[in-house]
Amino acid sequence: MGIIVQKFGGSSVANAERVNHVARIITDTYKMGHDVVVVVSAQGDTTDDLIEKAGEINPKASKREMDALLSAGELMSAALLAMAIEKQGFPVVSLSGWQAGFVTDSNHGGARIRRIEKERVENELAKHNIVIVAGFQGLNRYDDVTTLGRGGSDTSAVALAAVLHADRCQIYTDVDGVYTADPRLVKNARKLDEITYDEMLELASLGAQVLHNRSVEMAKKYNVKMEVLSSLEKKSGTEVKEVVKVEKMLIRGVARDNDVARISVVGVPDVPGIAFKIFSLLAARKINVDIILQSIGRDGTKDISFTVSRMHAGQAMALLEEVRESLRYENLVCDDTISKLSIVGSGMIANPGVASKMFEALSEANINIQMISTSEIKISVLIDEADSTRALNAVHDAFLA
Ligand code: ASP
Ligand code: MG
Repeated sequence: MGIIVQKFGGSSVANAERVNHVARIITDTYKMGHDVVVVVSAQGDTTDDLIEKAGEINPKASKREMDALLSAGELMSAALLAMAIEKQGFPVVSLSGWQAGFVTDSNHGGARIRRIEKERVENELAKHNIVIVAGFQGLNRYDDVTTLGRGGSDTSAVALAAVLHADRCQIYTDVDGVYTADPRLVKNARKLDEITYDEMLELASLGAQVLHNRSVEMAKKYNVKMEVLSSLEKKSGTEVKEVVKVEKMLIRGVARDNDVARISVVGVPDVPGIAFKIFSLLAARKINVDIILQSIGRDGTKDISFTVSRMHAGQAMALLEEVRESLRYENLVCDDTISKLSIVGSGMIANPGVASKMFEALSEANINIQMISTSEIKISVLIDEADSTRALNAVHDAFLA
């Protein structure tokens, strides 16, 4: 039988009881005759606690030392999980990210995996060991410890599954799969049996928060079959793959993202080059712009509005403030109490009625749309944050209930 990579998130290994339970899931898989490679996250809130500890000592700690600290959380859980498996009488070895051969770039705090030198893991599998790997970490080419960014253990797991040509990569978490909307917010949300990589990518980046975005990108690139399932209950989860069975469901999910601020540059001269000036300024500071809207010119002026993440709003405003003279706009406005609501589904492009159905649901709920953007597989609208839970339910139920 082939290799299975299993990843367990922080909540799945939060305490001794859960660690023992997860150990049983792993040994059950091993008993079925599979080679089992496990990637584990830090227990519970360990990573947050470590960040807090660092803050007490040096809030300006270097990224290098932060990585040295944060990587410890996963080292601990890997060893503890191996001990639990040992206790059950199975052959097991825990490895740090670097023992497992993870080589990354030097971007501390958000490093990218460059390659995995997989010999050690393969040797351990050849010895019939269950291999437990500390997620979220690697070494750069100067042998300094790096971490992959919050939630990065998913990416460690998919990367290992890709280089080992594993049969599948199972992501065990505290929810039992991917839903048509966040079940904490939407009463009628349903679990999906399957979803495509592209749909999952949209939902992940739109704030569905089930999988680390980069793990899905990587799974798509290397065609790794992913499965999201619960470590707490024994039932089937959601498969993430290239193509899914065609069902009549056209819209796969609805997501809300509250990390949005809208900036409007009001009354700029209606001449060539203005949009270029604004967006090259932002690009130079690596400020990511999402939705852009330009009004039709009138009286020789026009308005340009765009959205950025709330974290970047202040910086974007300051940059535009600095060029007020040269851009010759009348007014600069920022609203950071808005949300982006999106519907996602691969078949959308071929179905013209989708947008109007979404707008109808919003209009019936008396919710005002501030901006609209569309792509091949999604439609997003900006609305007031205060309306967003209501909007989420209204749109979800129009398509998916
Ligand atoms: N422990 C890290 C975090 O909390 C990585 C992970 O959980 O995937 O972000
Ligand atoms: Mg975590």
